[in-house]
Amino acid sequence: MSLLNNNLKALQAVSGLSAEKLAETLGAREPVRGFVTASVWNSDTERRKEALLKLNPAGVIAGLKALVTLTGAQGAVIVTPVEGVEDALLNAANEAELTLCIEKKAELVKFDHRDDLLVALDEAAALAETLCGLTPGVLLAVDDGELWEVPAKTKVTDVISVPFKAVLTDHRFWSPAELADMTVGKLRSKSGVLRVLTDRDCLADRAKKEIRILREKSCGRCTFCREGLFQLSAIAEDLTTGRLKPQALDLAKELTDAMRIATNCSLGEDAGCPVASLLSAFPQEVEAHARRKECPAGVCAAFTTFYIDPNKCVGSRECVKVCPANAIEAKPGYTSMIESFDCTKCGACLTACAQNAIVRVSGRARIPEKPARLKGVAVEAAVEEEGPARREGAGKRKRSFARPAGASAPAASKEEAASAPAPVETPVPAAAETAVTDVSNLAPASERVIRSENSGKRKRNYAKPVKSE
Ligand code: SF4
Ligand code: SF4
Ligand code: SF4
Repeated sequence: MSLLNNNLKALQAVSGLSAEKLAETLGAREPVRGFVTASVWNSDTERRKEALLKLNPAGVIAGLKALVTLTGAQGAVIVTPVEGVEDALLNAANEAELTLCIEKKAELVKFDHRDDLLVALDEAAALAETLCGLTPGVLLAVDDGELWEVPAKTKVTDVISVPFKAVLTDHRFWSPAELADMTVGKLRSKSGVLRVLTDRDCLADRAKKEIRILREKSCGRCTFCREGLFQLSAIAEDLTTGRLKPQALDLAKELTDAMRIATNCSLGEDAGCPVASLLSAFPQEVEAHARRKECPAGVCAAFTTFYIDPNKCVGSRECVKVCPANAIEAKPGYTSMIESFDCTKCGACLTACAQNAIVRVSGRARIPEKPARLKGVAVEAAVEEEGPARREGAGKRKRSFARPAGASAPAASKEEAASAPAPVETPVPAAAETAVTDVSNLAPASERVIRSENSGKRKRNYAKPVKSE
């Protein structure tokens, strides 16, 4: 038998059992004035465990019947938006002689169930397994994989097959150190879904997304849930855009503590977890974003810069074709360049470049300031084939391209080029072909001397005043 199979045996067994008999197997329970109400947790935004209503309606009803008998409650309520499960649940309730009401709602409003005993669906199904003398396991899914039942003593690290930076479950980040000896039974994930995050995932960005999801789900009745999520959303946004002030981290800590105790359902209690767990278990991630202004995973666009490595670029212009922002400048005979101001950091050019010449860096980076010349034959072929302007709007913004020493000036127009005498081939020094940041390679030697002499104070000749006799 499994939690995901219909437990008809438990349904037959529970009908005739008295509260005393049930207490021997399941333990005694406090009396309940209202109903026993079952649903998934409000904070469970994954809602994968609602599959139990289709796969194991008999087990859920058997567990609820056992709790109603043990507590003396008036009956049972199931809160769920899932369609097509009513018949199976009501038939099972008839068989168990249980008064059952099904509320078609996405969230359980705790204010409406003040006198009720609230239980999770999997908790009810697990009680049914215990009634049959079995030891229930824990329902678990890794990322978008199937939900399955694993023994409670299984180590969390044994169900994850890849190296990970963090595991996200119930909106909380767990570090590898925290999970080293943790069993799935001890973890007690409400949703049962473990999201495995690697070095390519940014935890600050993920925290921002989790808070957005929680804000959408919050009913807004509790001030701390409503306002706390608003504040945390702003803090997470500032963290990922480099605008975070140091004192905001202290505020985030206070907020998450207050939300845990001053809200009215599991959603409000868990709403501070993305930021709280990020601050406590991943201080290096926070430090990188807040102080060094960089994103270790290279995800946060505000800290990311794209540039083209002139040593790899062959001027194919494949990147220009895919850039939706028209941010890549490709001049014939030169390596291409990304205009940082226009770049939206979409990353489309990364996959388009067969040379892997496009680099994405996070934080401070020294990027080429000028394009480099392509090697001889490639330059001429590019000019013949494409003409001078490649990028729309090229020419509006003036960019000065320094010529290597000894290179002849380009012809002003095609006509001039045609009538001009054949250029004398001047070998381009290897260093000038590739070095981009070193301007001394690109400017004529005479200019360099003049510049260095004139740099610094500008000399002015003032005529001395002539004394009048
Ligand atoms: S904690 Fe949030 S979701 Fe829960 S009742 Fe309060 S406002 Fe609504
Ligand atoms: S960056 Fe890549 S795709 Fe773009 S021009 Fe250079 S080699 Fe071609
Ligand atoms: S990252 Fe996007 S916007 Fe920026 S240069 Fe590449 S394709 Fe263009």
